[in-house]
Amino acid sequence: MLTEDNAKQLKRTAQDNSVEITTMWTGLPVAVWNFIDGPRTIGLVPPETRNERVQILKKGSDFARILGVGSITTHVGFIPENPGDPIYPGLVEAVKEVAKHCAKAGQEFWFETGQETPVTLLRTFEDSGAENLGVNLDPANLILYGKANPVDALDIIGKYVRGVHAKDGLYPTNGRELGEEMPLGKGKVNYPLLIPKLKRCGFRGALTIEREISGPQQIKDIKRAIRILTPLC
Ligand code: MG
Repeated sequence: MLTEDNAKQLKRTAQDNSVEITTMWTGLPVAVWNFIDGPRTIGLVPPETRNERVQILKKGSDFARILGVGSITTHVGFIPENPGDPIYPGLVEAVKEVAKHCAKAGQEFWFETGQETPVTLLRTFEDSGAENLGVNLDPANLILYGKANPVDALDIIGKYVRGVHAKDGLYPTNGRELGEEMPLGKGKVNYPLLIPKLKRCGFRGALTIEREISGPQQIKDIKRAIRILTPLC
């Protein structure tokens, strides 16, 4: 789908409908969103699919350049907590390669939070040494994956947050499956604390409401999220 024609058509459609595209989320095929199969299927972490996925991310960057969008975003995956893990150095090289490609187009490369702890994400930024890396904070993901309280996570990665997915959820209740995503306001993300803290961290970007269901209930939940978030902004 990442063709020049599609990019041009999308750009026109967005302009015609006054839609601002905040980032180009570049998905990587065949991901399993749980603790058992996730580490070997998600993002740039699995070595077997890493090269292919680096190429896809570069294509995403090229697509975003045509759109005039200044960043791409992805889940990098279950980055090893142990920096001595043999998987880690190759992963850092892959991040560097994608970041370099993005830099040439004047773009940033954003990691969406979820599978890694905030300190591991920070270490990967430091080790990659690229200056155009940023965080797309999905506070609910930090909870669904049991990786951090998102309000506290800002002490570690706050200055890197460039985009936010406004989503909510619960912590995992077993060691195999993620916690449950919830309508905003019904989960564990403390938005009345999170939004002012994001501002103190210097964040001035978009809150992109994300509700991972479909149908009329999704629309209802998004409207509910607007009602909750608007007074906080
Ligand atoms: Mg998200």
